[in-house]
Amino acid sequence: MNKIHKKSLVWLRRDLRLHDNTAIFNASNETSLVTLCFVFDKNILDQLNDPEDRRVEFIKTILDDIRSNLNSIQSDIWILYGDPLTEIPKLASKIKADAVYVNRDYEKYGVLRDEKVKSILNEDNINFYSFKDQVLFEADEILTQKEAPYSVFSPYRNNHLSKLTITGSGYLNYNYKKITFEKFISEKNYSLNDLGFKKTNLSSIAISTKADDIQNQIKDFKTRIDKYDRLRNFPAIKGVSYLSVHNRFGTISIREIADICLNTISSGSKSWLNELIWRDFYFQIIGNFPHVQDGLTFKEQYNNLQYENKLSFFDAWKNGMTGFPIVDSAMRQLNQTGFMHNRLRMIVASFLTKDLLIDWRWGEQYFKDKLIDYDFSANNGGWQWAASVGCDAQPWFRIFNPLLQSKKFDPEGTFIKKYIPELSMLDKKTIHDPHASKADNPSKNSYPHPIIDHSIQRKKALEMFEKVNNVVKKQH
Ligand SMILES: Cc1cc2nc3c(=O)[nH]c(=O)nc-3n(C[C@H](O)[C@H](O)[C@H](O)COP(=O)(O)OP(=O)(O)OC[C@H]3O[C@@H](n4cnc5c(N)ncnc54)[C@H](O)[C@@H]3O)c2cc1C
Repeated sequence: MNKIHKKSLVWLRRDLRLHDNTAIFNASNETSLVTLCFVFDKNILDQLNDPEDRRVEFIKTILDDIRSNLNSIQSDIWILYGDPLTEIPKLASKIKADAVYVNRDYEKYGVLRDEKVKSILNEDNINFYSFKDQVLFEADEILTQKEAPYSVFSPYRNNHLSKLTITGSGYLNYNYKKITFEKFISEKNYSLNDLGFKKTNLSSIAISTKADDIQNQIKDFKTRIDKYDRLRNFPAIKGVSYLSVHNRFGTISIREIADICLNTISSGSKSWLNELIWRDFYFQIIGNFPHVQDGLTFKEQYNNLQYENKLSFFDAWKNGMTGFPIVDSAMRQLNQTGFMHNRLRMIVASFLTKDLLIDWRWGEQYFKDKLIDYDFSANNGGWQWAASVGCDAQPWFRIFNPLLQSKKFDPEGTFIKKYIPELSMLDKKTIHDPHASKADNPSKNSYPHPIIDHSIQRKKALEMFEKVNNVVKKQH
């Protein structure tokens, strides 16, 4: 193939892998020599409040793995720290690259950053190319017949599915070891300390940080995928894939996992593909309805909801001390591991907004601080869904009863006991609402009484929504 450039710089961001990477694939096709780099972006790192941030350690560990894989073919990756607007043009000039290749970002910050970097590079006659990589279909690829974006999931999914079935996932089957990467040894590696961060408990939680282990995790899920639809709602059972952190940082490719579904015919794989399509759906929401990136509700009228925002309730929720074991165990899982099961995310989000009457944005921000798989689009979409203010959201009058959710999705209390050891002596009848039982069991004494009465709070939540709905009705 004719090469159009002498040397390219591939700037990795949330696509931290060597295989099936669109930017690497295109760079290797179009240029004689390929060099990789990653920038620890000061603008992003400076916003992280906790020096023990698992995501920074995760990125660092993954980069070390990429580096050792590149070292085995006598190459390396430049690791930089600073503002990409200066770091990328500086490195491109230094190594005399005539083109920079990236995979596209969709959040406001990333989109603006790339526009600026592109124009700085172009001034120096360096080309800038960007590609679709982190989604199956971008915001303008799945539209209604009238070329409008979708705000309801089912018709979006149907359109997405029929297109995907025709195009296939587009998996890029190349061997990165055959690419002509530049042979060099990078000058600098950054320790967590250099970046202003500390070691976390990452290595003690079950998150793969090496490309080979991640592939094994995919293989393991393949053996379970057929049961996904039946088991996905039970946090005590290994029913889901636990791949979200890898989807977030691109340590797997969305195409390789979509292929699993396209090649497996079962109700489980159909259901899992549905979740991958939800992921694309929320990505297209932030692109087509950018107001959600400004802290606004998708449905405009719900910006006027009058939440009570009681600080003591918020603290109890954050610390897993509300007296509702299913909520508290979930929040403790989040605090201890940076992960929370999807069913529990829905329960705690509903509880925060409709039982504790706290603004969903507070919860969104807390998840942003804590989740290792934090992704603006899925997180904002999930919170707006649970708080009934988003597109295709849970109807406002549907309010989860935390006790019933607990009995239904953790019937034996197995998950609760894992994260609330003070309740481990309780049986399955008493564990969901420990203080309701008259039987004296000293193990429950250190566990708080419920901070609210669900039936009272439910009524208040309905009134809060009705007030806004009535105003809207009067206006029409
Ligand atoms: C309030 C709330 C906040 C959330 N915040 C995030 C977030 O910050 N980052 C995030 O990746 N997911 C978020 N989700 C979606 C979902 O909870 C997680 O993706 C899922 O729990 C991850 O576990 P898993 O990889 O085992 O998922 P699986 O059930 O195995 O699903 C496979 C993949 O599909 C994607 N996915 C699954 N469910 C959703 C969904 N509802 N929306 C978008 N993508 C989905 C994820 O990439 C996931 O890895 C949120 C959900 C809610 C209700």
